[in-house]
Amino acid sequence: MAAQPVSVLITGSNRGLGLEMVRRMVEGTFTVGKLFACCREPEEPGAEALQALAKLHPDVIVVLRLDVTKPCSIKHCAQQVGSVVGTGGLNLLINNASMLVKATLQETSTEDMLNSFSTNVIGPMNVIKEFLPHLRAAVKASGMPGMSSRKAAVVNISSFLGSMETVQQSYSLFPAVSYRVSKAGLNMLTLCAKEELQKDEILFSLMHPGWVRTEMGGAEGEVDAPENVQSMISMLASLTEEQNGAFLTYYDSTIPW
Ligand code: NDP
Repeated sequence: MAAQPVSVLITGSNRGLGLEMVRRMVEGTFTVGKLFACCREPEEPGAEALQALAKLHPDVIVVLRLDVTKPCSIKHCAQQVGSVVGTGGLNLLINNASMLVKATLQETSTEDMLNSFSTNVIGPMNVIKEFLPHLRAAVKASGMPGMSSRKAAVVNISSFLGSMETVQQSYSLFPAVSYRVSKAGLNMLTLCAKEELQKDEILFSLMHPGWVRTEMGGAEGEVDAPENVQSMISMLASLTEEQNGAFLTYYDSTIPW
């Protein structure tokens, strides 16, 4: 039997891994019904590639404005999504948008830390809170037992740089203190959400996408976005309660906390 189409929302989808996820989801085997591709400035040149992709898949891709640091932007976006999905709800929410400041502890300013927290921790927190009614609606509409990414799930894109257990090996290679601290915060946020919303049957996972050649990953990254995203999408499509609260890698393994 063919899989039921799912509704998906991706933040920061105008470039990098977010854009590649949108491309792979609509061109691959994920069976997406509606894909809400969110970005800060949908009408600006930075979103041209996304808009071009949306034109090719007008029945699936819905481009929406969303700045994760602005509560009213999140609220408005959630209303727009609600008016499309209705009682069917939102099956999969991917908190991908993020910012990175490359600075050691001694170089990191208060502003760097506040901005990193605002985008990488408070943003995902407010997005989760605002979209909860749509995730709960998806649980109700699914009628399926257990947890899965085809029912209702939140995947927060984290990084191995947020892993406390591996700091000793990785710090000197890539200090980025505000980024590391904020991704560790995102990891804790995800575990708290998992505990609190287990009873609602909403799955929460973290995913490290690998070191990818994007604006954030830089030219020395290990791989191009399409390679990793293909693997990420297969994993995203098959998440069940076994991965609830897991810190996953794109290649089907886990990262130490
Ligand atoms: P990019 O820097 O290429 O893209 C970041 C995206 O986030 C852009 O679309 C950007 O939009 C968006 N964004 C930033 N701030 C906001 C905001 N306030 N509201 C909405 N969108 C925002 O990063 P990647 O694609 O490489 O990274 C994607 C995810 O993967 C991130 O969570 C990152 O931490 C994680 N990651 C990436 C790695 C890598 O090697 N690339 C390694 C480990 C983790 P805009 O164009 O408007 O700035």
